[in-house]
Amino acid sequence: MTTEQPLPDQQPPAAFPRAESIAEFAAALADVRARIDETALRAGRNPGDVRLLPVSKTVPQERLRLAVAAGAHELGENKVQEAKRKSEEMADLDISWALIGHLQTNKVKDMLTFVSEFHALDRIKLAETLDRRLQAAGRGLDVYVQVNTSEEESKYGLAPDATLPFLREVATFDSLNVQGLMTLAMNTTDTERVRRCFRLLRSLRDRARDENPALIGPGGLSMGMSGDFLIAVQEGATVVRVGQAIFGARPLPDSYYWPSDR
Ligand SMILES: *Cc1c(COP(=O)(O)O)cnc(C)c1O
Repeated sequence: MTTEQPLPDQQPPAAFPRAESIAEFAAALADVRARIDETALRAGRNPGDVRLLPVSKTVPQERLRLAVAAGAHELGENKVQEAKRKSEEMADLDISWALIGHLQTNKVKDMLTFVSEFHALDRIKLAETLDRRLQAAGRGLDVYVQVNTSEEESKYGLAPDATLPFLREVATFDSLNVQGLMTLAMNTTDTERVRRCFRLLRSLRDRARDENPALIGPGGLSMGMSGDFLIAVQEGATVVRVGQAIFGARPLPDSYYWPSDR
């Protein structure tokens, strides 16, 4: 993979424009998509191998309806209660909901009422609870296993060394369809440190695949957000989770969504 290429500029969050109409949402989505495609091609990748998952947390339904009309039919949310409420408010629309944030075991039941994929599987207790409820409902769920690649204590996710043993154990839960690995890179302007997080995730994916391809399903990599998705694409992301670059800067600080300094 050619990672030495210069990146198109990524804007600071304060500069993210706020789309207010279907046309503005269509333009914002197309702009992010074009930058993904261009970066993928320059890295020798097929742009079709990178999915753009718009992240709609904090965005109220009035604006989300515009985004959906502009073509966003998959939405990522960080919190179960907010996502469940929105899925109910917008039940008339064709939307697949992804939960991408930390999940408490006691919220599993609520999540399963609306979710079609889950990106933050990080402990066996949670896998057990999910599997029990999914088996009872006679369905499966696409999941990504979250790894803490930045080694910031505050972050959720498995320690890198714990990832392979965890995947072996998760393989015993028939209802959980592992799609790959997920991470949040270090929150820093030092792009080399960010890149190291993404590379670590990719190498863990490769190691799992070498041991037994069944451990990791299609071997996806859910990584990259508004501030770093182009680096993630260069490093092999198959799903980028992009909020602010589509919906505009969030009013609440990131510390509201992540345990500490993000
Ligand atoms: C909010 C969030 C994102 C998107 O972040 P932006 O800065 O809005 O692009 C990605 N992943 C997770 C887990 C999130 O909570």
